[in-house]
Amino acid sequence: MKQRALFLDRDGIINVPPPPSVRYILHPDAFHLMPGIAETIRLCNQHHIPVVVITNQKCVAIGKLSPRNLSRIHARMEELLRADHAYLDAVYACPHSEADACTCRKPLPGMLLTAAKALDLDLNASWMVGDQPRDIQAGKAAGCHTLHVHSEPVAFCDASLPDTRSLPEWLLKHFLQKEDCHSQIHTV
Ligand SMILES: [Mg+2]
Repeated sequence: MKQRALFLDRDGIINVPPPPSVRYILHPDAFHLMPGIAETIRLCNQHHIPVVVITNQKCVAIGKLSPRNLSRIHARMEELLRADHAYLDAVYACPHSEADACTCRKPLPGMLLTAAKALDLDLNASWMVGDQPRDIQAGKAAGCHTLHVHSEPVAFCDASLPDTRSLPEWLLKHFLQKEDCHSQIHTV
């Protein structure tokens, strides 16, 4: 049976976004977790819900970051999460720019579709969480529910939160609790 998943954007959801003047995380030391995100991922782990990172990294296309250093940054991400007992199931990064006309760069749903195939995921029962309109567009295009985490929500998302701090509580109320009800019915 296909599993539902939690898809997470990276910058602004998993890690503190780089300041606008810098724009990109270019070194593992610049990677710092957002409040509440390790707990969010840990809760999914405990409920056996796959957690998949979906991130645009145009900095690779424009030569600011090598693929090797992007891997180092992602190793740091997993190391920080592991220290909090939180584990990712997969990380998908689009290294292209708009000029490459790829099918993976958000707002296109390519990375979500690829992940769904590889991990046998039920997109219609999954959620995409992001802080940018293009995250929500990609999630919608893939057939997922969408959660926008930003102080100014966009109108076309299914749900919104002001910040990542409130993610664990939201997850328990609106995502994980459904499975619990379901399994209760089966165990009665
Ligand atoms: Mg983001």
